[in-house]
Amino acid sequence: SEENLLQITNTITIFWCISVIAFIFSNNSQELESKLIEYNAQLEKQANTDTLTGLYNRRKAMEYMEYLVKNQSGSCGFSLCICDIDFFKKVNDNYGHDFGDEVLKSLSKLFLEEIGEKNFAARWGGEEFLLLFPECNGDNASDILEKLRRKIKNMKVKKDDLEISVTMTFGLAEYDFINGLTATISEADKKLYMGKEKGRDIVIF
Ligand code: GH3
Ligand code: MG
Ligand code: MG
Repeated sequence: SEENLLQITNTITIFWCISVIAFIFSNNSQELESKLIEYNAQLEKQANTDTLTGLYNRRKAMEYMEYLVKNQSGSCGFSLCICDIDFFKKVNDNYGHDFGDEVLKSLSKLFLEEIGEKNFAARWGGEEFLLLFPECNGDNASDILEKLRRKIKNMKVKKDDLEISVTMTFGLAEYDFINGLTATISEADKKLYMGKEKGRDIVIF
């Protein structure tokens, strides 16, 4: 009958409308989910990155070192270096804080170019950096650092008519299986201090 036909048409129309709405909603929530994932990745990157230099920050460095400690295979450790710019206060005093920032940025770029893909560089403090060499014994890390030290010495940082160079001092330690991470960091720090005492621009292992 006509009434029956009307009811069938009605049912089909309603079913069709619901399908369209469901489709739009599921599409929307998928879009929302992928946006959230993207946003989350952005936040994580921000939390791990130093804003001035773009290097990893101290938080990420700690996290990564703890990961390395947990994943020690037994025979093969890692090497840890703390390095510090020599007489950096003078750079700021003589050329200004902005120029000091330029020096920090140039050095950071050089670290990434020189230490190799497998290794890790972070800004540890104001003008201090932490370099990690997973699967690298102290001797191998020392060779890399010696090259880096020379590159830094020869690097010119330019701004307007100014052109200067700086040196850095490096304290290097192998992971200390017995005394742990904190002791290893202290050891590298101690070596850095020894290098400063010895007259700077040097790698101490
Ligand atoms: P040393 O060779 O013994 O390391 O001498 P130094 O002058 O480098 O050491 P000191 O600790 O006396 O000075 C460090 C300076 O680093 C002081 C501080 O203003 C500067 N500094 C720290 N963080 C930043 C930064 O983000 N930007 C700039 N431009 N300077 C910074
Ligand atoms: Mg310092
Ligand atoms: Mg310094």
